[in-house]
Amino acid sequence: MTAAVEAAEVGYSVVLIEKEAFLGGRVIRSHKYFPKMCPPSCGFEINVRRIRSNPRITVHTLTTVEEITGSAGDFRVRLKTSPRYVTGNHSLDGSVIEQLSSERPDTFNMEIGTTGAVYYPHDSAWPPLHVVDREALSEADMLTLTEVAPPGSIDMGQTEEEFHLDAGAIIIATGWRPYDAAKLENLAFGQCPNVITNLMMERLAAPGGPTGGTILRPSDGEAPGNVAFVQCAGSRDENHLPYCSGVCCMASLKQARYLREQDEDAKITIFYIDIRTIGRLESFYHDLLEDENITFVKGKVAGISEDDGNNLILEVEDTIAGEKPTPQFDLVVLATGIVPNTADAPVPIELEYDDYGFIDGGTGVEGVHAAGCSRHPCDVSTATKEATAAALKAIQDLNR
Ligand SMILES: Cc1cc2nc3c(=O)[nH]c(=O)nc-3n(C[C@H](O)[C@H](O)[C@H](O)COP(=O)(O)OP(=O)(O)OC[C@H]3O[C@@H](n4cnc5c(N)ncnc54)[C@H](O)[C@@H]3O)c2cc1C
Repeated sequence: MTAAVEAAEVGYSVVLIEKEAFLGGRVIRSHKYFPKMCPPSCGFEINVRRIRSNPRITVHTLTTVEEITGSAGDFRVRLKTSPRYVTGNHSLDGSVIEQLSSERPDTFNMEIGTTGAVYYPHDSAWPPLHVVDREALSEADMLTLTEVAPPGSIDMGQTEEEFHLDAGAIIIATGWRPYDAAKLENLAFGQCPNVITNLMMERLAAPGGPTGGTILRPSDGEAPGNVAFVQCAGSRDENHLPYCSGVCCMASLKQARYLREQDEDAKITIFYIDIRTIGRLESFYHDLLEDENITFVKGKVAGISEDDGNNLILEVEDTIAGEKPTPQFDLVVLATGIVPNTADAPVPIELEYDDYGFIDGGTGVEGVHAAGCSRHPCDVSTATKEATAAALKAIQDLNR
């Protein structure tokens, strides 16, 4: 979004391609973002206004790039848009939705709960329309939907649409996905209900999330009084992600603040290998060091098990004290790391990737530039600076 507005505001036509039905990427799914702790809607709304008011920007959601041919100054791009099945200018109202019973996993909320098969993706939906999950919609609900929805608002005959566009330069900002916590078998994700990931924590804390913003433990809906964060859950581990994911320490420190804001008695323990909060982020960490309800333990968690009450017992060595305690918690948050989306869905043109799928440095193709987490794990501030830099590079290509 940043690259698009920066290039368009100096006079270039931009086409923004997004595979989801909403804009805002991973950031819009967080409760607040560090270091300022403002809601993600802050910067997002400014960018949306810039996009809406700029006729040079065209946005295609539910769209992916299928093929790129040509070269700098003269790329030809083939795109594919998935059907939304909801058409027109107005979204469906509640009276239509409440007559349907089909459900699908709530992917926006990290699959904590479900949504209807006809769902509104998020406040940042673009365009502001519901989407039909065709696979999840029962035949009976499909009939009801076509009967009760206002005329012209549903088109179940929609199919995938292919189209082409020409571009002088391409910016890749395909971002990241979380490392699959189920692969960390010793950390019991998916086996113990009260072991969650840091992205689930973002959604539990968000007012628009599945619990309306109150952090509750999944097994019994109780507020957790005693929470552990397990750092480097997959990252800096030769068996999983050998690299540092860069933002997980700050994410856990931020989430410790969510918990402390909701419960002044909440106790938090952060198990870490190293705390990495560089530059201006260091003071965020130092503030938390002064909180007597937050304990930092240097030690890599080796295992998690649970008792009859779904409380969690950690196997860990405190390497500074030289002790092997077996602390118990109500809730454990795994600080899972960042995997580039390009690791398993490379851009359809031959680019230079590092061993993990990041476009680390130049792309190797003139006229193609990368920004943000497609290049390396990074925070929002770095991603937006790189997006501005990529926009400048793209403009230079067009003027060459
Ligand atoms: C738990 C956690 C908490 C975090 N909290 C913070 C925080 O508080 N502050 C902070 O500064 N940073 C935070 N971060 C880091 C932050 O999420 C990233 O810096 C940010 O998401 C990077 O933005 P991006 O645009 O590079 O990628 P993304 O946010 O991943 O955006 C990429 C976009 O590209 C789309 N896309 C992907 N592939 C395709 C494709 N093939 N075709 C079309 N579209 C595609 C995606 O749907 C998405 O919309 C956190 C990270 C984690 C893990």
